[in-house]
Amino acid sequence: MTARPAIQGQADVAAPVVSRFAPSPTGRLHLGHAASAIRAHDLARLAGGQFLLRIEDIDGTRSRPEHVEAILADLHWLGLEWDGPVTFQSARLDRYAAALEKLKARGLVYPCFCTRAEIAAASLHAPHGAEPTYPGTCRALTTSDLSRPHCWRLDMARAAEEAGPLDWHDEAAGRVEADPLAAGDVILARKDAPASYHLAVTIDDAAQGVTDVVRGLDLFRATDVHRLLQALLGLPTPRYHHHPLLVGPDGVRLAKRHGSPTLEAMRQAGRDGPALANSLRAGGPPLELTPLNTR
Ligand code: GLU
Repeated sequence: MTARPAIQGQADVAAPVVSRFAPSPTGRLHLGHAASAIRAHDLARLAGGQFLLRIEDIDGTRSRPEHVEAILADLHWLGLEWDGPVTFQSARLDRYAAALEKLKARGLVYPCFCTRAEIAAASLHAPHGAEPTYPGTCRALTTSDLSRPHCWRLDMARAAEEAGPLDWHDEAAGRVEADPLAAGDVILARKDAPASYHLAVTIDDAAQGVTDVVRGLDLFRATDVHRLLQALLGLPTPRYHHHPLLVGPDGVRLAKRHGSPTLEAMRQAGRDGPALANSLRAGGPPLELTPLNTR
């Protein structure tokens, strides 16, 4: 293994490689998912390490068992085998709740009662197309009626101050200075679930001993938030491998592209899964797909 730059809180670089694929079962997988899963799988296999499969099903309203079944079948079809049992975030909600309680006790989170419409109205000045950061409306509330529907938000300024300057390592970009303030007061527990993506993914990557996180460049800046949560919760920091996203011939991301073919459709059409996986390994592009570099 090559020497890595020292990153504060970095997981033991000599530890065996553990990577993971962590899909949300809110829809069928497409070629972009396949490319990401193959990268994570091959990274572990080439290093003689472990490849884990984690189903990120905290969104109880959008997650569906039939999507889980299709995900497992798709991965088998591609020729990808994972190590150990499949883990489900829905079975680990107590862990996320416990971490949230710790942050509450330190005054680093606050309840937020805003509706989507209220946030949109208060964020009218957000740059066009950008996900608006939360304007902080509920941060200053002195009394809160917790019987009303609410989520829990991280008080980002306070948390970032407590954690101090942080960095993390991306295999392509090198050392990255974390800028969690840019994300604003992110949600850590939702109105309908005791965790958000940010909290659950950070806790699980640490709990499962993940040394290498492979995912799309669209999540590059989310890693700043995860790095901060690692610092606040005393968790190790994996290495990150943010890869370009696949786009269709029209330049639109597969994930956002209406009617982009699902792996299930290709599998059911009798396509050769391992051959498709190999063409993605070779950089493709199958079906005129090209990588999109975006952060
Ligand atoms: N469940 C997330 C997704 O499907 C996982 C992202 C990640 O790998 O951290 O986008």
